[in-house]
Amino acid sequence: MTSLRLPMTGGCQCGRHRYAVTARPLTLYACHCTDCQTHSGSLLGMSMPVPRTGLEADLDNLGSWVKTAANGRTVKISFCTDCGIRLFHEPARNPAIVNVKPGTLDDTSWVAPIGHLWLDSAQPWFEPPAGVLRYSGQPTSFDELFSRFYAMFGTDER
Ligand SMILES: [Zn+2]
Ligand SMILES: [Zn+2]
Repeated sequence: MTSLRLPMTGGCQCGRHRYAVTARPLTLYACHCTDCQTHSGSLLGMSMPVPRTGLEADLDNLGSWVKTAANGRTVKISFCTDCGIRLFHEPARNPAIVNVKPGTLDDTSWVAPIGHLWLDSAQPWFEPPAGVLRYSGQPTSFDELFSRFYAMFGTDER
């Protein structure tokens, strides 16, 4: 089992917005849906859900817009209005969590997705690493993603 060092700090690319994660994240996964490909400008997006109470960030001073998915669910997307970097996604259906974009952490050396979502729309040349959880679309439950992460990073190091 690996220890996570808390708090984790991060920020946008220009340095205007900084944040700290003070609670253990619930999981960390990669998503290959076309929305994530678009917003990352790359082959996938990554999400690290954290308890809202465990995120210190100046959410009011970030730019934001609300995206509605095909299934009608909405997510508030927060970004730096100077450099455009996305920092957080807040799902309306679960106000207790905020999805931090883990590529914006200062230390990404430990960042490795526990699972890969929406592999049906992944780039055809992409093959998930051995041992990760695989989902063709949206998982019906995140329990496996949570328990696998907890098994790897169950203890906090402060
Ligand atoms: Zn910025
Ligand atoms: Zn996605």
